[in-house]
Amino acid sequence: SLTERLNKTLKDLRGQGRLTEDNIRDTLREVRMALLEADVALPVVKDFIEHVRSRALGEEVSTSLTPGQALIKIVREELVRLMGDDGEGLNLNTRPPAVILMAGLQGSGKTTSTGKLARWLQEREKKSVMVVSTDIYRPAAIDQLETVAEKAGAAFHPSSSDQDPADIAAGALQAARTGHKDVLIIDTAGRLHVDEGMMDEVRRLHEVAEPVETLFVVDSMTGQDAANTARAFADALPLTGVVLTKTDGDARGGAALSVRHTTGRPIKFLGTGEKDDALEPFHPDRIAQRILGMGDMLSLIEEAENKVDQQKAEKVARKLKKGKGFDLADFREQLQQMQSMGGVNSLMDKLPGAGQLPDHVKGQVDDSQFRRMEAIINSMTPGERQRPDIIKGSRKRRIAAGSGTQVQDVNRLLKQFQQMQKMMKKMKGGGMQKLMKQMQG
Ligand code: GDP
Ligand code: MG
Repeated sequence: SLTERLNKTLKDLRGQGRLTEDNIRDTLREVRMALLEADVALPVVKDFIEHVRSRALGEEVSTSLTPGQALIKIVREELVRLMGDDGEGLNLNTRPPAVILMAGLQGSGKTTSTGKLARWLQEREKKSVMVVSTDIYRPAAIDQLETVAEKAGAAFHPSSSDQDPADIAAGALQAARTGHKDVLIIDTAGRLHVDEGMMDEVRRLHEVAEPVETLFVVDSMTGQDAANTARAFADALPLTGVVLTKTDGDARGGAALSVRHTTGRPIKFLGTGEKDDALEPFHPDRIAQRILGMGDMLSLIEEAENKVDQQKAEKVARKLKKGKGFDLADFREQLQQMQSMGGVNSLMDKLPGAGQLPDHVKGQVDDSQFRRMEAIINSMTPGERQRPDIIKGSRKRRIAAGSGTQVQDVNRLLKQFQQMQKMMKKMKGGGMQKLMKQMQG
């Protein structure tokens, strides 16, 4: 991941004053590699790097950061900014029926996403939805949409392969009007590759249906191709947004950056699975996090480095990543760092989704408890800190007495340590994402 790569370049001298061509060269090269590895299209990578370089040059470096770290901050900020704003959602402010046109290559997930959107709009936004397929080339595609509509509880406007796509759209629009539907979603035919026939057809559909939302549906796994396809569709149609599908199979996230940069349009939804509820609103920071590999850990580490000794923070970061060899001495170090960083609550705020943690979890950690936990660990021998399993009855009594606590406090600390250790193991190798998901329930 980018973080791993960067650990190498981040070790430069700190407090160099300003970012210069010289002191950002190595880090920029690593960022470039990381973006390419995340499958961001090459021209997009080039633009992005140039942009970051020109913003970075001459920028002052605060004394606690290395130039590498200062640059990474800029990279993160630019990445998030480029990804657009949070929760753009659909704009359906028009006289009903509001029409949504789904465009994209064959297999990109248009029909599936039509069903997902229909369900989303009905359940979350309490809209009445009708769907229609203009895919006259594959009769199975129309049947597929009918099944999908039925599951989503949306009205299905029938069509057949001997009709003209534009006529189908006009007929459906009429039916949606008379049926007082709030929304009409038009699913279209795609080809395997961009071609003029397809573009003409979808342009005609656009003229007839006058959609308020024209969504470009794109498979996140198509990597480098995503940018080219996006350009072709953005040239042919006034796109209003993007649905990025199959993100469940793509750990890299690069297509989001490519498509966003190429179309200039917001990514509105992510497809996260085959089922009709596997649709999520897009959060730019999460994708930036995915592209950067380790996400908010990076900012935690940065902050740690502002407040505590850099080597210590790096050591903890390495252990966090490995998730093994994590002992009570490390636990104590973490407790101390958390306190020096403004307490656990300010830390919790930085973890995405931590706000939704159940209260009993949050309640486990308040700062006075931290100090007591620290005292308990202080009363242990180095051997006990390394191998907590040897702490049995008489040792527990000794530790409790030494730290002015009760045996049950020692037990609680050991349990909390075990939970922390388990969490560390889970974070091993990309597990951070999983952990975040879990935390979000
Ligand atoms: P269309 O040709 O653009 O209409 O594409 P479809 O909607 O038929 O989808 C093509 C394939 O991709 C189907 O097998 C879908 O189940 C699958 N698919 C679509 N969206 C997603 C997604 O977000 N995640 C996963 N895993 N599969 C998806
Ligand atoms: Mg289809």
